[in-house]
Amino acid sequence: MVPDYPLSRSTDPVPEAERKAILAEPGFGRYFTDHMATAVWTPDGGWHDRGIGPLRPYTLHPSAAVLHYAQEIFEGLKAYRHADGSVWLFRPEANARRFARSARRMALPELPEEDFLTSVEGLVRADEAWVPVPGGEESLYLRPFMFASEAFLGVRPAAEVVYSVIASPAGPYFASGVTGVTLWVSSRYTRAARGGTGAAKCGGNYAASLAAQIEAQEHGCDQVMYLDSEGEGTLEESGTMNLCLVTSDGRLVTPALGTILEGVTRDTVLALAADFGLTPEERTVTLDELRSGAADGSVTEVFAAGTAAVVTPIVRFKGDGYEFTVGDGEPGSRTVALRRHVLDIQYGRAEDRHGWMHRVL
Ligand SMILES: *Cc1c(COP(=O)(O)O)cnc(C)c1O
Repeated sequence: MVPDYPLSRSTDPVPEAERKAILAEPGFGRYFTDHMATAVWTPDGGWHDRGIGPLRPYTLHPSAAVLHYAQEIFEGLKAYRHADGSVWLFRPEANARRFARSARRMALPELPEEDFLTSVEGLVRADEAWVPVPGGEESLYLRPFMFASEAFLGVRPAAEVVYSVIASPAGPYFASGVTGVTLWVSSRYTRAARGGTGAAKCGGNYAASLAAQIEAQEHGCDQVMYLDSEGEGTLEESGTMNLCLVTSDGRLVTPALGTILEGVTRDTVLALAADFGLTPEERTVTLDELRSGAADGSVTEVFAAGTAAVVTPIVRFKGDGYEFTVGDGEPGSRTVALRRHVLDIQYGRAEDRHGWMHRVL
């Protein structure tokens, strides 16, 4: 049975003129739509109190478990408006499945896939006016999340959990054209260890990443590249995006799953690789291989993949006492072409041969 998220419309929506001003320059994560979806879980009642209503603050007891023990997970996906006015999601089932995997790891109740899809679609319908018209790369960013709301300080899985979806209009990630970024190779911080939470999309991973992000900025870098926690010098990911290398012999190499987050964009790029004359390869990649490959030209391009920026060219790396450039320091041609193609599929300008697009309106 398809779960029902009944809509109770906001009586106090953002006035149209204000909404239009926001949509003209939304930035990222700064403005929110008029509504939110919510459901509550308890051991006896299962998932209940489903609905879509006005966006509003929560009332939480100061002992709510999430505030102390960070039992929380989230997702991130976008709604895209096509030139004909229709509105689509990109591979939302993949986000729903990953949300369930993250829930299992954090001992949270699994949200059924149909609940995830119905709530996300319902919110997009309720806030259709907030889905930007196509121009550059504008979209409506959707943030499903789940947290332990039970008032209790004991350490055990919470007996009351809240699920919500909120939405925030997003402008183009690279407002002034796609430029390459520099990553800081942290030898001080790691992101995830074997047996840890690296493969779960949980808030705690992000809390732990902020000190590394500050370290990267202090070294004039845009973001962090994490190595494995065992000191083996193998590449993991950048903490919000997965990493891919393009080699001169036509391979698209990306670190294998395990302690990294299984990105939908990563999977998308692997599936599209052959269309760009590249053989996808998921395996262990060492920093030494990247450094020597960048030096001798066998690694021609590096990019990061994630929903927010789609594909980000990485042109430079810095670490303790060294730095090196990839290729000629400009975004690579395969990187740019893959980025364009993923966007073309998402905005309905290229054929969706994999059945990834999911129409909402
Ligand atoms: C969300 C996320 C990614 C990218 O995943 P997408 O599904 O492609 O957006 C990569 N790394 C981490 C740590 C993430 O949380």
